Amino acid sequence: MAETPGPICRFCGNPLEFTFVDLGMSPFCESYLREDQLDQMEGFFPLHVYVCDRCFLVQLEEYLPPEEIFTQYAYFSAYSDSWLAHSKSYVDMITERLGLDGSSQVVELASNDGYLLQYFVQKGIPALGIEPAANVAPAAEERGVETLVEFFDHELAQRLASVGRTADLIIGNNVLAQVPNLNSFVEGIRVLLAPAGVATIEFPHLLRLMAENQFDTIYHEHFSYFSFSTAERIFAAHGLTLFDVDELPTHGGSLRIYARHVNDDSKSVSAAAQALRDREAKAGLNDLDAYRRFREQVEATKRDLLAFLIERRREGASVVGYGAPGKGNTLLNYCGIRTDFLEYTVDRNPYKHGMYLPGTHIPIYPPEKISETKPDYILILPWNLKDEISKQLAYTAEWGAKLVVPIPKVQTL
Ligand SMILES: [Zn+2]
Repeated sequence: MAETPGPICRFCGNPLEFTFVDLGMSPFCESYLREDQLDQMEGFFPLHVYVCDRCFLVQLEEYLPPEEIFTQYAYFSAYSDSWLAHSKSYVDMITERLGLDGSSQVVELASNDGYLLQYFVQKGIPALGIEPAANVAPAAEERGVETLVEFFDHELAQRLASVGRTADLIIGNNVLAQVPNLNSFVEGIRVLLAPAGVATIEFPHLLRLMAENQFDTIYHEHFSYFSFSTAERIFAAHGLTLFDVDELPTHGGSLRIYARHVNDDSKSVSAAAQALRDREAKAGLNDLDAYRRFREQVEATKRDLLAFLIERRREGASVVGYGAPGKGNTLLNYCGIRTDFLEYTVDRNPYKHGMYLPGTHIPIYPPEKISETKPDYILILPWNLKDEISKQLAYTAEWGAKLVVPIPKVQTL
């Protein structure tokens, strides 16, 4: 009898035999529930992450076709102030660095509601968004951002290139992790990129995820987790050279890689790219041991967070959440935290008000709920925005509320 084939590496096809971390069974982290869905059956899928021992791509299997994930994955990115500021300063920087003007073409992959491309439009630089979630496209069009409601892949790139629509700048922010067919996507970048064009791609940095214990950024919608070195291998396999890199504070520590065609000699490889490659090697990212150690760290965090919550509840203190991000759902489901520990959470996004977190069924209210109930502790689930959120919550000092972050370790601010 033939053996059931196990999972294989999304990039290199090698069988996946090594576990990076196993967070158990979890629902899709963006599948917020309406009240009338609370008594219905909910889909739980394994959050079992592997690392490939040949190319060191950290990855999850896909349990649902991307069409199903992305139709639910419809959030409006324009709600975070710091993210908008990040986007605007990127547009100013890259426009100047590449000398973009009215004759250039910018294309963003997974352009969401046009939050970023709007800044190019304001400068008179032609910008095209490609975004599979149909419900955010009208918001983009309102900002004057032309948007194609499609998945980006090799085939779409060829269609655009064949009508002369190549790109001087391709932007992909926080999309690479969500691409099921990684090779088709990166090949598409090569096909769409003009001969002297540049692609900048941002993704959470695996080195930071591991060093800072950011296991809650693992979710089903994120199929892949990249180091610089692994990204370099993948892009090189598709004729693209990573010639520079920025380290960014966003999403707990991200990389912005700069790719060009392998034969474009006008841009030499920066010292920053070389230095980062060396740092990753020194941190052991080309060796399985470092990946194996991650698991122990994650389990310790679960014990610490539960101990903290049990203690507070024993004291009779009230604890609520702030934010309803995807990462919160990974954390709460992995730790088994429901309304017995966290009464409710709040979010600024009106789309989520009146909904419930998947799996844990914690209700989501508008932020004003906090001043109504005056909780003793507020657990900040989007810990990557803790500075911004602490400012927003400064008024809670009035009744002595304490702000807590769960990651990298449980800590009262
Ligand atoms: Zn591999």
